[in-house]
Formats: sequence, C-alpha cells, structure tokens
Amino acid sequence: MSKAVEKRRARFSPEVLAKMQELGRMISAETYGEGGPPVELTWNEIEELGHEIGKLTATEFDQTVQRQQAERYDTEQACPQCGKGCHPGVKHRDLTTRDGTADLSEPEFQCVACERSFFPSTD
Ligand SMILES: [Zn+2]
Repeated sequence: MSKAVEKRRARFSPEVLAKMQELGRMISAETYGEGGPPVELTWNEIEELGHEIGKLTATEFDQTVQRQQAERYDTEQACPQCGKGCHPGVKHRDLTTRDGTADLSEPEFQCVACERSFFPSTD
C-alpha cells in the first residue's frame, strides 16, 4: 500500500474503513450480481466505477455535513428589521463542488411580521 493511501486510511477508524469495504461489496453485488464481477472486467472499468462512486460519496458527504450545520440553527432569532422572534426554515440551492453538484441546505429565517427573509448570524 502506498504512503498516500496509508495516510488517507489513517484518518479513519477501523469501523469506518470496514463500512467502506462493506459498501464496496454492496455496490459490486448490485452492479455485477451476487456472483461477483465477470473475469473479463478490466482494471480500467473497475477504476472508472470506483471513481464515480468516490465522487458521489463526496457530494453525499458534503450534503450530510452541511445539513448537520444547518440543523444547529434550530433556535429562534430576532428579525433584524422589527425584532420579532423568527423560526428557521431551510433553503436549498445547488452548489458546484470538485466532485459534482451538491444540494446545499441553508438555514433561512422568514419574518412573518415584515416578510423579510434573513440568514442567521454566526456570532
Ligand atoms: Zn420582521
């Protein structure tokens, strides 16, 4: 195993690495059937699918972590215009990442009194 791969693997727990291997087995079974891949399958074809999975996994991860951040804004915030307490909703938009488009969930407050929308302050 190369140093780069060892270093990449060292960031994760044995449990996470085992889940990644399990995911690989699941995708292989779903793609090639329970009997596994055909022997004619080339390394290039394996690598191509692996890379697609990597990109999709990356955007799924980006969205998951970003949603976790958005969920932290579950408390009321005062409208900057009228001061009324407002509850957050979620606004979705596409975000272009190195691995494809991710669905970004941003907390957004809508003031029912003055119909102003505002984003939470981070302080
Ligand atoms: Zn307001």
